[in-house]
Amino acid sequence: DRIIAADATREDDAIEASIRPQRLDDYLGQQPVREQMAIFIEAAKQRREALDHVLIFGPPGLGKTTLSHVIANELGVALRVTSGPVIEKAGDLAALLTNLQPHDVLFIDEIHRLSPVVEEVLYPAMEDFQLDIMIGEGPAARSIKIDLPPFTLIGATTRAGLLTAPLRDRFGIVQRLEFYSAEELTRIVRRSAQILGLSCEGDGASEIARRSRGTPRIANRLLRRVRDYAQVRANGRIDREVANAAMQMLKVDPEGFDDLDRRLLHLIIENFDGGPVGVESMAAALSEERGTLEDVIEPYLIQQGYLVRTARGRMATTKAWRHLGLEPRRDAAA
Ligand code: ADP
Repeated sequence: DRIIAADATREDDAIEASIRPQRLDDYLGQQPVREQMAIFIEAAKQRREALDHVLIFGPPGLGKTTLSHVIANELGVALRVTSGPVIEKAGDLAALLTNLQPHDVLFIDEIHRLSPVVEEVLYPAMEDFQLDIMIGEGPAARSIKIDLPPFTLIGATTRAGLLTAPLRDRFGIVQRLEFYSAEELTRIVRRSAQILGLSCEGDGASEIARRSRGTPRIANRLLRRVRDYAQVRANGRIDREVANAAMQMLKVDPEGFDDLDRRLLHLIIENFDGGPVGVESMAAALSEERGTLEDVIEPYLIQQGYLVRTARGRMATTKAWRHLGLEPRRDAAA
């Protein structure tokens, strides 16, 4: 597995619970999102109403699940967590919804993966707090209506475009999470180090932060691996040198790229003369799934200006050529 994968591993899940921020004040970065949510939450509390439904989108590991925990905590209500693929039948959703207390938050991760049948049940639930389901089959089948307590649905997805328009339209609040700056990630690493009881000095934290691809989950994971290295080789102290040495061992370069990123850039530049190349061809050549390239690898390369998406396919930028120590093609993308 990639050490810099943005998706959660089992180990992440176990450890993240202890370092996951619980309050808006600990939710670092994402300034506009925090400011807006603070107002919306306060307003809902003052009116003694459920908060409007919230759609959060952004690449994996940027804090969608964390934000939903924070929102529920700030509202002082319970949070139920589930995900799109887990809710197989309309009845599964009905069970979840009828177990909510007034103003509770239901978090549905990967909400774009709900089946159409389940989505249909969700519409009236979101809009009128009404459950409208069919029970029984054949001639004995009948539809029943159940009133639900007012609740807040928080949906998370990697890209807003994956949602059907009717579902997207039912969210009153839409928040888009951005990649974190190196400075914000440095604060996140410092905070996690403190909770884990680590001594992370001077530039140690920023050295980890700059290789974390703008993603808190990766920052926390790299911190744990650097901790191992520091424990065995440096009496547990993490400073710049120790962080650097550990990263070299892990084969994560100063840009936060690993072998897969470098292979992708090499492929475009060497096999396709810098592009344009279609995502399907790249996926085949790298033996990766198209979705993995699009959701996991490309966003960071694009955001950092190494790759551009054009109508005819992906192109490596001059920055990418130079990163690999090559002279850019004359008409390489800027
Ligand atoms: P997502 O749901 O978007 O995949 P998570 O919410 O699970 O991502 O975040 C991954 C980890 O990153 C969390 O366990 C948390 O420790 C950390 N994290 C995420 N966002 C923040 C933040 N704004 N401030 C501090 N830590 C964060």
